[in-house]
Amino acid sequence: MEEGRHVLFGKYEMGRLLGKGTFAKVYYGKHIVSGESVAIKVVNKDQVKREGMMEQIQREISVMRLVRHPNIVELKEVMATKTKIFFVMEYVKGGELFAKVARGKLKEDLARKYFQQLISAIDFCHSRGVSHRDLKPENLLLDENEDLKISDFGLSALPEQLRNDGLLHTQCGTPSYVAPEVLRKKGYDGSKADIWSCGVILYVLLAGFLPFQDENLMKMYRKIFKAQFECPPWFSAEPKRLDFQTSCS
Ligand code: ADP
Ligand code: MG
Repeated sequence: MEEGRHVLFGKYEMGRLLGKGTFAKVYYGKHIVSGESVAIKVVNKDQVKREGMMEQIQREISVMRLVRHPNIVELKEVMATKTKIFFVMEYVKGGELFAKVARGKLKEDLARKYFQQLISAIDFCHSRGVSHRDLKPENLLLDENEDLKISDFGLSALPEQLRNDGLLHTQCGTPSYVAPEVLRKKGYDGSKADIWSCGVILYVLLAGFLPFQDENLMKMYRKIFKAQFECPPWFSAEPKRLDFQTSCS
């Protein structure tokens, strides 16, 4: 092995840091024989165990194996040492959709394309019983052809998480994108909650800002409960029909 060159299991050359999450760091990697680019998510087992999240990591692996779709980041293989778990994924070159929307609103045609791809992938997940539960532009990556790939199934749920009432009860997600029924803590349908987040994402792509905003978190929640939002004047007639129906208002 060359000095300073880190090789994983004699198979992948590890490169620069691509991104950081709660439990993981994601690095660029290259398959030594084929030269194929990959993204390697490195999870620290001790930290995960300490925080009681091992089951969730195992679920992330099972889910990613279950949902193979052109608009979902592909998990190629999983490897582990005593202290770490490595997710070897397809490398998605274009970064987060978040970075793009942070620079300003998108043209409606482009937003429509991303939204179609998002809905097609999430519909596939739901048909397999998987709900993502943390859909937001930070977890949507773009490849070199400007195609969208859903990533980060770290909070996803499978049918085995349903309680006797047929609903999910773990409150998770990111406040601005989360459905009112998730905030209510009385159980929710994971697929419907994902669709709410998709609606928020569509709004953000077209507007360049969030539909429900307030410095005060409780006030923001109140807006979410009431589905209280306004469409900016540049929305065309189609997205103006966006209908955030809440099951608890
Ligand atoms: P966490 O579950 O800890 O939030 P993520 O899976 O969201 O971790 O990964 C963290 C960041 O790493 C992402 O937001 C993204 O910037 C980058 N990343 C993750 N997967 C890939 C990938 N397959 N290709 C390129 N970058 C990636
Ligand atoms: Mg993430």
